Amino acid sequence: MPASRREFVFGMGAIGAFTLFSRNVFSIDRTEPELILYNGNFWTVNPRQPRAQAVAISGGRFLAIGSNDEVLALAAGNAKKIDLGGKTVLPGFIDAHSHPAEAGLSHLRMVDCDLRSIADILKALRERASKTPPGEWVLGFKYDDTKTAEGRPLTREELDAAVPNHPVYVQHRGGHTAWVNSPAIKLAKIDDHTPDPAGGKYDRDPTTGHLTGHVRETGRETFDKIIPSNFTRDDHREGVRLITQMMTRTGVTSVTDAMGTPEDLRAYQDAREAGQLKMRVYCHIYQAFMDQMLAAGVKTGLGDEWVKVGAQKMICDGSISERTARLSQPYIGRPDDFGILVTPEEELYQQSRKAHAAGWQLGTHANGDVGIDITLRVYERLQKELPRKDARYRLEHCTVVNDSLIARIKALGAIPTPFSTYAYYHGEKMKEYGADRVNHMFALRSFIDAGIRPTQASDYPPGPFEPMMALQSEVTRTDAKGNVWGPQQKITLEEAIRVGTMNGAYASFEENLKGSIEPGKLADLVVLGRDVFKEDPYSIISIPIERTMVDGRWVWES
Ligand SMILES: [Zn+2]
Repeated sequence: MPASRREFVFGMGAIGAFTLFSRNVFSIDRTEPELILYNGNFWTVNPRQPRAQAVAISGGRFLAIGSNDEVLALAAGNAKKIDLGGKTVLPGFIDAHSHPAEAGLSHLRMVDCDLRSIADILKALRERASKTPPGEWVLGFKYDDTKTAEGRPLTREELDAAVPNHPVYVQHRGGHTAWVNSPAIKLAKIDDHTPDPAGGKYDRDPTTGHLTGHVRETGRETFDKIIPSNFTRDDHREGVRLITQMMTRTGVTSVTDAMGTPEDLRAYQDAREAGQLKMRVYCHIYQAFMDQMLAAGVKTGLGDEWVKVGAQKMICDGSISERTARLSQPYIGRPDDFGILVTPEEELYQQSRKAHAAGWQLGTHANGDVGIDITLRVYERLQKELPRKDARYRLEHCTVVNDSLIARIKALGAIPTPFSTYAYYHGEKMKEYGADRVNHMFALRSFIDAGIRPTQASDYPPGPFEPMMALQSEVTRTDAKGNVWGPQQKITLEEAIRVGTMNGAYASFEENLKGSIEPGKLADLVVLGRDVFKEDPYSIISIPIERTMVDGRWVWES
């Protein structure tokens, strides 16, 4: 953009457009709006100007925000004007933890097992096998053991019966566990006598000792490693194209890829070059790839407002939806099961130290209270040894908390990214945590009251990414059947919107760039079919997304 505009944009800050226009500091022709949206019900998430009727946009940024009269008065000859018909507009939503590149590829290649009976899942796998050469893998994802009519998990025997001539690997929706059949077990060269791998499990029948086909954490990785990846560079780009289309139509305009690989980072760039990247990406890099990144001098923040390098990603413990998070008290009904610790503390520390010293933000997956305690200890040690201002350590998920953990999070200025749609979508799994513990999970009320800035985060595929579901889940803490999970943690709608917008921008050091509708910020917004502020909180999920704008352009129009 021309220097004059840049000055205008960044010089605006808190002053607001009209002060400058009325002072005639910049002539209209140098800052002419390309587009004006008027007659809208804007909720800006800017406390200095919370509501507005109209916005002016130029060069992908908001130029001015105000009443219809004020903003329409800026229109010069060529400005396009769109009447929003009174519709409610929010800043675009920021999904601060999900797995878009990987999910896009899964949608291209795997059987979507988000089905409501085991019979339907087996049928879908059988159909895929009939089109797959014998011996090649049949892969499924988004299988959820608690959501099928049979009320029990898949078995190895039924997978064998449905698909006898292909190795089968069905990943749980949460991504930390999988179900495999006998040909897959044979290819993995494990049997009933193979010991469990460190940080994982091959489940066995308690009476016979036979492998059940359910493999967890690093036990799942055993299989992951032997499945050949046939993806081309173009497939990766295509996966990104597909997922950005899926997400933007629900109102998501920015996302953090929580476990990027170099191929993912390249795929986002390829999609962008092809004009197919519809949302902005902050791409964490998984620790396994960090040596190459460090050698190249890459660090957090490299890139631009479309594709940017995020934090180093590490994993401390297990999963909430698959009930493997490491807890101080056992799971309800399983007195010996405290969950799984994936990475030892010293290893987390060594890896974190390397990245921290090189200027990286850190993002560590920590779900259970034990996992969070360990991760905080690593961060606290680093901050003592290599102090850094405004490090914004991230606690990816940060699910099960208590008062002392919250005090330490606040003291460090760390950022939790709790699951936004779980109370609504995964309610039935919360039984295994118990009512008391659930009152300390996805603890938005506690975080906000302590002055911490939690984000909206789907973790998709594990959780649905629809921002309207997130809002409903956070405001009501109620699942689709009407059960309430952790009512102490309810927040207001205004708070939930801020969590899903400004707080997400803060988590990626972009609070001056996006997250609210303010002069100078990126023109990312969503137009709702109904007014969310007048909606029954229990039907927010049904509000249609009419339009999504990224960078001043519609990327979705219903
Ligand atoms: Zn994740």
